[in-house]
Amino acid sequence: MKPKQLFKAQNFFLEILNKDYVIPVGKIYCVGRNYSDHAIEMNESIEKNEPFFFTKPPQSLTQNNKIPFPQNTNNLHHEVELVVLIGSECKQVSPSDVEKMILGYAVGLDLTKRDLQEVAKDNKKPWDLSKGFDNSAPVSLVNISNKKTIKEGKIQLKINGTSRQLGDISEMIWSISELISYLSNHITLYPGDLIFTGTPAGVGEIKPGDRIEASIENVGSLEVVIK
Ligand code: MG
Repeated sequence: MKPKQLFKAQNFFLEILNKDYVIPVGKIYCVGRNYSDHAIEMNESIEKNEPFFFTKPPQSLTQNNKIPFPQNTNNLHHEVELVVLIGSECKQVSPSDVEKMILGYAVGLDLTKRDLQEVAKDNKKPWDLSKGFDNSAPVSLVNISNKKTIKEGKIQLKINGTSRQLGDISEMIWSISELISYLSNHITLYPGDLIFTGTPAGVGEIKPGDRIEASIENVGSLEVVIK
């Protein structure tokens, strides 16, 4: 049979620190409320039952250092997060095997239209448009020099030089190994998939003109200016 031709579709790519290749982005999974101090500030329960996830579409991703303030919100929030890049197919992986599946890490922002999210929560509707929009997932260059599961390290976000979020990876409710194992028991993960692992307390509003500096110890840093 004659092989079928590939229809030209839009792909999105991740740039890698100190490498001359790019990686096509797959799915972007995000965990909610993975630091208890953030759950408390959002007036949510901190019981360790099961993690919950939402997704952002690939076009949410950006590695540009200048992004426009999005439309349709009056309350854009920052959430600094450690982002894991998956390097191998993950299907029903045990927590002890997760380390073999990690290609690298990045510093990410889970930008959120908090006003739309509150309306969605109140009406028991999905969060998709409050979490997934153009440029809602800025990430740093991916650091592939460390593939071990990160268990600790300072995670910080500053706005215009003032510290707003400060925590430590060790404060995660569900570890990277637990999160990826759990996800892989619900859906197969593939190389190029990204996992946003939750944010510490201190989330707050971003205004046009703000300069956001985010950093994670032993991973890297990210600077984004909101136009
Ligand atoms: Mg988040």
